[in-house]
Amino acid sequence: MKSMNKALAASVTRRPDRNRAQNQFGVEVITITVRIMITIALLTCCSCSRGPQERAWFVMGTYASVSTGGCDRGRIDEAEKLAAAEFRRLEEMWSHYSDSSEVSRLGKGEGGYVSVSPDTFELLSLSVQMAQRTEGCFDPTVGPLVDLWGIGRQKEFAVPADSEIERVSALCGWRGIELGEGSSVRFAVKGMSFDPGAIGKGLAVDKCSDLLRKAGFSDFMINLGGNMRCFGSARRGRSWRVGVRDPFRRGEILGVLELSGGMAVATSGNYERFVEKDGRRYAHILNPVNGRPVEGMAGVTVAGASAAEADALSTALFVAGLEGGMRILSGFAGAEAIFIPDQTPVQLCISKGMAGYFTPSEGVAVRVSEVD
Ligand code: AMP
Ligand code: MG
Repeated sequence: MKSMNKALAASVTRRPDRNRAQNQFGVEVITITVRIMITIALLTCCSCSRGPQERAWFVMGTYASVSTGGCDRGRIDEAEKLAAAEFRRLEEMWSHYSDSSEVSRLGKGEGGYVSVSPDTFELLSLSVQMAQRTEGCFDPTVGPLVDLWGIGRQKEFAVPADSEIERVSALCGWRGIELGEGSSVRFAVKGMSFDPGAIGKGLAVDKCSDLLRKAGFSDFMINLGGNMRCFGSARRGRSWRVGVRDPFRRGEILGVLELSGGMAVATSGNYERFVEKDGRRYAHILNPVNGRPVEGMAGVTVAGASAAEADALSTALFVAGLEGGMRILSGFAGAEAIFIPDQTPVQLCISKGMAGYFTPSEGVAVRVSEVD
């Protein structure tokens, strides 16, 4: 009995021994796994809650930047590489200044249809649609007038003669862009050209955003000369914040836009590229109706779902002015605008929906438009 008890006791004590070894091993594995998981979670949380990283460079005649925030914060090198390559690719096709670009070659055809790449055809078709929807206030064929005025390009500025403006205006008009079969295009009038200046950067931002999304990025902001698009968050739980520049006071802002979910923002203004002569300011945005620089508006900022649309629309609303601009804007679902008339003290006029994104700086007067 004793020996049986001993044997029983031995087996009772031996079994838990083996179990303990197994348990200890299991517990250790679990403990290590949990520790690793906690460390990963902590690292992820820490990097998600830190501010975004940013890289900037020069392309398409302006500054480009990409910022990665939230959980993509650590992928800034990869984002910069992808964005820089994409902007360079599009610049080669769309540069207005390089004779060999696809866009420059368009005007040199003998009047027949010219085949273009799918990206350039998209740029042209979108431009024609935007010209139509903005009642021609956005007109990508103003190039000959832009060259005639030479605003921001010449050292010596002279207002062109009325007869010259009239002659050159005959070479402009978006209805002369004829889109054909199989990604082809021709111009109806000899001497016409295509100026991507008011829409190309926006479309480039959309294309670059698509590329980053495909590469798995979800928290980033792209900026190409003031044409921006934002996804996800800048840091954990915080949307991207974009300042709206004060056209009258350098370095100051009129308020802040909070954007995420793929929202785009674009600004057209008279304060970056302009000339002053005899007390008058001539802006680089032209009114296609009279062939002259637009007066009366200091800036227009548009927020919307696509950067190409926001880019073309901000130029169009700048041309159309407050009343006409609000009417045009009502044809674009989801797009909102801030108008900054060229007068001081500054009084902003914003579309109804813009109030949801925009917080004015202290003391800035804001009127909300009645037009929906
Ligand atoms: P943005 O800064 O986007 O408003 O674009 C301005 C540029 O677009 C100018 O530098 C011109 O090259 C071109 N542009 C000027 N006026 C117009 C217009 N009414 N419609 C389309 N493009 C324009
Ligand atoms: Mg524009």
